[in-house]
Amino acid sequence: MSTNAEIFARREAAVPRGIGHSTPISAQRALNSEVWDVEGKRYVDFAGGIAVLNTGHCNPHVMAAVREQMERFTHTCFQVLLYEPYVTLAERLNKLAPIDGATKTAFFTTGAEATENAIKMARASTGRAGVIAFTGGFHGRTAMTMTMTGKVLPYKKGFGAAIPEVWHVPFPAPQLDVTVEESLKYLGFLFKADIDPARVAAIIIEPVQGEGGFHQAPPELMRALRKICDTHGIVLIADEVQTGYGRTGKMFAMEHYDVKPDLICVAKSLAGGFPLSGVIGKAAIMDAADPGGLGGTYAGNPLAVAAANAVLDVFDKDKLVDRANVIGAHIVARLKKMQQRNDLLPMAAVRAVGAMIAFDIVKERGGEVPDAEMTKKVTARAADEGLILLSCGTNFNTVRILVPLTAEDNIIDEGLDKLELALSA
Ligand code: PMP
Repeated sequence: MSTNAEIFARREAAVPRGIGHSTPISAQRALNSEVWDVEGKRYVDFAGGIAVLNTGHCNPHVMAAVREQMERFTHTCFQVLLYEPYVTLAERLNKLAPIDGATKTAFFTTGAEATENAIKMARASTGRAGVIAFTGGFHGRTAMTMTMTGKVLPYKKGFGAAIPEVWHVPFPAPQLDVTVEESLKYLGFLFKADIDPARVAAIIIEPVQGEGGFHQAPPELMRALRKICDTHGIVLIADEVQTGYGRTGKMFAMEHYDVKPDLICVAKSLAGGFPLSGVIGKAAIMDAADPGGLGGTYAGNPLAVAAANAVLDVFDKDKLVDRANVIGAHIVARLKKMQQRNDLLPMAAVRAVGAMIAFDIVKERGGEVPDAEMTKKVTARAADEGLILLSCGTNFNTVRILVPLTAEDNIIDEGLDKLELALSA
């Protein structure tokens, strides 16, 4: 049996460094919120494959549904031979999503494909090209979604010209030192200096920025964006790839607001570890593209669709949306206690929307200066202690917690104990 180090060395020789790594761990098997590496070491998983495993690793209900589908067929290409579970999943999401009026859903494979296709739909339905996104936002790594992503390092550096007609507005959050007023003022400048709002197809926003540092879009921003979109005929797209599926204590994070988007992008926890993404939206926008303009060979793969239908059943059966709020409150309470302790590293801005939880590591207690280097050390120390922990944020100093919503209380507490050890000063 190879060791983690041996596999990592082979990986370095065989796989490009542009595919980054947050841990040196090589997985052997995983169950719910626990993972075992190739050396037999056990870990508590607070990463969930970056927000993919809200129903846990190898959820038995999800695995059974996939096994059953696998015995029948694994691929037909939906555009060649359709299959009922795809249609059923679309119907279920059309009912669940917080979108007004007649709704339709299209499936793809990755989160980037969902956000990119949402833009194509918005462009087809408005006949316009312009796209407005937010600084610090993350929408993917393809040429279009990389352009929409609001962070140069490491996502854009060296990758050439951006796609034209994409503009960024500062995302408001106290930790980013940007207010809603400033954000909207900048949008006003953009409409005066760069693009007539009548040429804007879409505004895309994450209700809670994921990679950007777990900052929630304030309700007054969302309300103002809805109004601007209504006034100028712009499509409002909520990128719920990371927030979707119960993570924020609602099935969709947009349910936290009193306004609704026109399109919602979903992926990650949609199919409990199988590659599936989707765009849910107003039928008129979804239907604007001509037949053949949307889709993909693997889009809506039968195994992933079977998993996604089972994921929805698990959400109902295990009441995972409620569980997100319980887990979130418990973890935040413990993090706030840790923040008070002088024997732990200085923590700031403990924040959560449901179970989408984060805090920052700063240079001094009570200060705000980010400590990116120490944050890197903390995630490495966590791995040593047996905890899989991720960082994020525009300043690289945010620790985020995305523990499966199915995780048992004692495992969550064990993970938090390990986090305390990783944070010792
Ligand atoms: N949007 C958001 C909000 C995301 O968090 C991500 C992935 N981190 C994506 C889009 C892109 O998803 P994928 O990596 O599956 O292409």
